[in-house]
Amino acid sequence: MKKPLSYILIIVSLIQACQNNKPTLQQPVVKTRDSIASKKTAKIYSYPKEQFQIIKDTIDKNDTFGAILNRHNLPFPKIYQITQKIKDTFDVKRIKVGRPYVLLTRKDSLDSLPRPKVFIYEQDPVHYTVIDFQDSIRVHYKSKKISKRKKTAVVSIEKSLYQDIADKNLSPKLAMELSNIYAWTVDFFHLNKGDSFKVIYDDIYIDDSIYIGIGTIHAALFNYGGKKFYAFRYPEDSLQTAYDYFDEEGRTLRKQFLKAPLKFGRITSRYSMHRYLKLYGRIKPHLGTDFAAPTGTPIMATANGVVIKKGYTSGNGNYIKIKHNATYSTQYLHMSKFAKGIHVGSVVKQGEIIGYVGATGHATGPHVCYRFWKNGKQVDALKEKMPPAKPIDSTRLEQYLKDIRPVKERLDRLQNTPLP
Ligand SMILES: [Zn+2]
Repeated sequence: MKKPLSYILIIVSLIQACQNNKPTLQQPVVKTRDSIASKKTAKIYSYPKEQFQIIKDTIDKNDTFGAILNRHNLPFPKIYQITQKIKDTFDVKRIKVGRPYVLLTRKDSLDSLPRPKVFIYEQDPVHYTVIDFQDSIRVHYKSKKISKRKKTAVVSIEKSLYQDIADKNLSPKLAMELSNIYAWTVDFFHLNKGDSFKVIYDDIYIDDSIYIGIGTIHAALFNYGGKKFYAFRYPEDSLQTAYDYFDEEGRTLRKQFLKAPLKFGRITSRYSMHRYLKLYGRIKPHLGTDFAAPTGTPIMATANGVVIKKGYTSGNGNYIKIKHNATYSTQYLHMSKFAKGIHVGSVVKQGEIIGYVGATGHATGPHVCYRFWKNGKQVDALKEKMPPAKPIDSTRLEQYLKDIRPVKERLDRLQNTPLP
């Protein structure tokens, strides 16, 4: 029953080919100078536009593959034949409401009613499926031509990050990508007027014309709380299988916490839920790690962050609390004094001195009690598993510094441009 139909189709298309005396898709085209010149004929999904009637639509709520084709005059036996033939490569039930599709009908068709010969379904803006039933039934998975254009942007925070980005006609995805890169460095919820960033990134286009969004961020410089934070995208290892962002010295931006807030010192008391605290004469959990060191020893921020508390309580003595990202904060107790210029709101870099060891508050001797907060709860800093964050390997550091130099210079030179 079904075979004769396809024979008829072949015969019909052969007749068409003879009658119209012009090349069909099946016939090889001899390339002459003229045909090369006219080769730039408009195409739709690599089919020559001039040969087809084009019907563009989107999948409707009650649409099925069969219903769409039948609505366009394809008889059900033919539809059945198609769905059976393609069922292992394309499940017609996968078509989703709202996705665009295209039907191509041959202009030179001898059918009494125009019948589609090609069904093209766009599963996403880049990838599409071609179901071609001009003669034999075939499924092709294809993707549109993607092109990248390198762009730069300079944004100063005036109103809010998203508003300032929108005012410059930049993609909001830029803010999202930057907030990922700088998750351990910049608190995107508390940017201030005067903060700014520069970025070198790719804009992605389909078929050289349709903008679909931003691609890779190659490098960025964030001016945050008066400090500069560079980010350069670079392969994590010589295999170049994975990329990460590193600063101007090759340190990863996904910060590992320093093991201790002191360069020198020794752990005198670990985090414990059952420590006998002499001072109180009863069991009281110790929710920090004590590092003993002489009074005046510098205390360092264990990761980049923002100072959210600075003060004195009878228990903590002089203390500072730093927020590192949405998950982690750290606290440093019993300081003899604070470092100059450190205030609530100060942006601090990993390793930056925030205060000095002392014995203020409840302390039996000079030490820093280091407290580690995760999602609002105090946890054991020494047991906390951190995401791996390796710096550029020492054997590759020289090459890294050489490679980023021109990019860094470009970032430094980038100027804020007036609004369009
Ligand atoms: Zn302690």
